[in-house]
Amino acid sequence: MNQIISNTQQQQNMSLDNTPPSGRSRPEELVPSRYAVQVGEIEVLVISDGVLPLPTQMLGHNADPAARAAWLKDMFLPQDAFDWALNVVVVRSGDQTILIDAGLGLDPNLNLPRAGQLIKRLEAASIDLASVTDVVLTHMHMDHVGGLLVEGVKEQLRPDLRIHVAAAEVKFWESPDFSHVSMPPGFPDALRATAKRFTKEYQSQLRLFDEEYEVAPGVVVSRTGGHTPGHSVVRVASGGDRLMFAGDAVFAVGFEHPDWHNGFEHDPEEAARVRVRLLRELAETGGQLVATHLPFPSVGRVAVDGDDFRWVAAFWDY
Ligand SMILES: [Zn+2]
Repeated sequence: MNQIISNTQQQQNMSLDNTPPSGRSRPEELVPSRYAVQVGEIEVLVISDGVLPLPTQMLGHNADPAARAAWLKDMFLPQDAFDWALNVVVVRSGDQTILIDAGLGLDPNLNLPRAGQLIKRLEAASIDLASVTDVVLTHMHMDHVGGLLVEGVKEQLRPDLRIHVAAAEVKFWESPDFSHVSMPPGFPDALRATAKRFTKEYQSQLRLFDEEYEVAPGVVVSRTGGHTPGHSVVRVASGGDRLMFAGDAVFAVGFEHPDWHNGFEHDPEEAARVRVRLLRELAETGGQLVATHLPFPSVGRVAVDGDDFRWVAAFWDY
């Protein structure tokens, strides 16, 4: 499935492949940071931007602390804080190369040295920033737009780059409501400042949609709301295969406890409804799911039994 890539494409550095590019030497990382999935005719590459340690209370700030502690214990996770994955996706459909979200970036004030790896890992995957024709943003939290604000990145991007984002998202960040979130201190200010800076930097490249937009053949972004008012998911469909990039609609705890409110959700009740709707859709279609904060490469499927959902990780394809 991952090998449907021609030699010609490889020579042009065009393939979204799991094999390292030949003829280049670079220090090897000890962790895999990209994983390719073929969806019909469309190539999808999950790239890790690294990890972000966050307090566990954020997993479900409306949950009984004992229930939260029990879930962490069952998952063999530490009780105080654990690392959230940061997954970014590159999609190639026809002659378009689409970057879905952009990772956290490298803000030295945040002291998050294990995040913000995207640019280096795109390079390791032989994906030239100048080859990106479109960016799709699931939403404008800094862990999804920050990579575009890393020094020197904008200069490498094409002047005609299109950045697709829901109109409701851009509007939200003009005067964002943080009254329902539960974030560590400092985060709201950092999120506000990053979204503002992003809008200013990329204003002329923003292409707003209301509810849905077909970015490329078989690649459709749809607004869900919930997490943020303009939060959107991307559905990729080709030749009977389906994959959904769900952004921040689904977290690791969300299969067993879809009603737990994540600390980053601006409208947690709506976010929970969105989560259940998407999980039901995925269970029904059998399509693959990729989400920002599920453990890398976060490729899997959703099983359902009544109201109980279960994550079924994909077997890696070598
Ligand atoms: Zn996020």
